[in-house]
Amino acid sequence: MRILLVEDDLVLRVGLKEALEQANFTVDPLGAAEPAEGALGLTTYDLAIVDIGLPGMDGFELIRRIRRRGLDLPILILTARDALEDRVVGLDIGADDYLVKPFLLPELLARIRAITRRSRASANPLISVGVLTLDPANHTADIEGSPLELTGREWSVLEQLMLAAPKVIAKQKLTDSIGHWDNELTPNAVEIYISRLRAKLAGRPVHIRTVRGIGYRLEEGAADV
Ligand code: CA
Repeated sequence: MRILLVEDDLVLRVGLKEALEQANFTVDPLGAAEPAEGALGLTTYDLAIVDIGLPGMDGFELIRRIRRRGLDLPILILTARDALEDRVVGLDIGADDYLVKPFLLPELLARIRAITRRSRASANPLISVGVLTLDPANHTADIEGSPLELTGREWSVLEQLMLAAPKVIAKQKLTDSIGHWDNELTPNAVEIYISRLRAKLAGRPVHIRTVRGIGYRLEEGAADV
């Protein structure tokens, strides 16, 4: 899952980036709304975390612009204590949830899980395709009832494939979901993760099909040999 983080407080921004990466999210941290607006035009994000008090354009205006563009990604706002008005306005203009500073990391992670779950229009916290099940809360995967050992990026690629299934997911969208700006991945990197996942799914009744020129699709049934 790729998160756009817009927070002008450097200490908080760096701390949140590290903490979210520890939790296996991919994070693009920015200190102002203007570059964030540009980033939203270039990259597909699964979630935006937006501080309201920003230099230049404020968080409210950024959220208005995101919604005016028709982007429906979940937005979590960060507001100052006692700023009830901010929370009300933020929710009214299209934010999905808010967190009051200072907050504890477990609460942020729980809220991220909750709003991304709602945005998938499902109350089921698990993602399942056939014999495969992912648990986003615990970052675990399970196949035919046994744990499937995955690295962080393998897990992220599989999560995207499962969320897209039975549709095809574009290779670029997969690259976006696991790449960082400071460590941009080539499309070949996605191929490497796909081939590792295929090795781990070998012999199971679920496989990853390459849709030439477009991307990949997770399908039930054994792979054609
Ligand atoms: Ca601020």
